[in-house]
Amino acid sequence: MKITFLGTGTSQGIPIIGSKHPVCLSTDPKDKRLRVSVLITWGGYRYVVDCGPDFRYQMLRAECDKIDGIIFTHEHSDHVLGLDDIRPFYFKQGDIPIYAHKRVLKSLRKRFDYIFATKNKYPGAPTVIENRVKNKPFKLKNIQVMPVNGFHDKLQVFGYRFNDFAYLTDMKTVADDEVKKIVGVKVLVINALRIDPHRSHFNLEEALRFINKVKPQKAYLTHISHLLGFHEEVQKTLPENVFLAYDGLEITI
Ligand SMILES: [Zn+2]
Repeated sequence: MKITFLGTGTSQGIPIIGSKHPVCLSTDPKDKRLRVSVLITWGGYRYVVDCGPDFRYQMLRAECDKIDGIIFTHEHSDHVLGLDDIRPFYFKQGDIPIYAHKRVLKSLRKRFDYIFATKNKYPGAPTVIENRVKNKPFKLKNIQVMPVNGFHDKLQVFGYRFNDFAYLTDMKTVADDEVKKIVGVKVLVINALRIDPHRSHFNLEEALRFINKVKPQKAYLTHISHLLGFHEEVQKTLPENVFLAYDGLEITI
């Protein structure tokens, strides 16, 4: 299984438009972060987790010419706004499967009413195949995916375990029973927004505490704000099995 980090930034991305913050002005490519998403590839299959506003460019940058589906964590704009840009895939492949909690599907139907329209549909609009995710395992081709339930302030969010890879973002609280589902995975991706606490995201300290509970072989931090600091400097402060993810990073599990 290959994981490509398509984006590792928080909701506004880094740099933030108009910001003069030193991290936003950094010339290190690792400090440039698109909105958070990963591409998961195995056996010729390709799935993305979330498709935010940078989805089109992320697909071009990763040279991804086919997707087998999109799995959503939750309905916030930084995770869903690129849905219209599935059009090139739809034109080539037909209806695109999406996987999400029923509340997220409802939100997508409202925001992208033309995609879900059944009457007088505009000919250029794509069509999706809705798959409702409940908090129980489901199949994606030949693997089983285990949802991991958590909360982003008060909003329910799904993380997902794909074999020995677990991807959780936008988490602030995860119950112990849910943590058990991912204990000992080889690779964990978890959100770490900044140094200071935040009401709906793990800060760095909370993310490191979470990693200590899960005990993966390696952990990668994502959904990063400019307020976390420069990539190179923050990386030096992390435990030896914890890494800051960066856009374009590829790992094989
Ligand atoms: Zn987010």
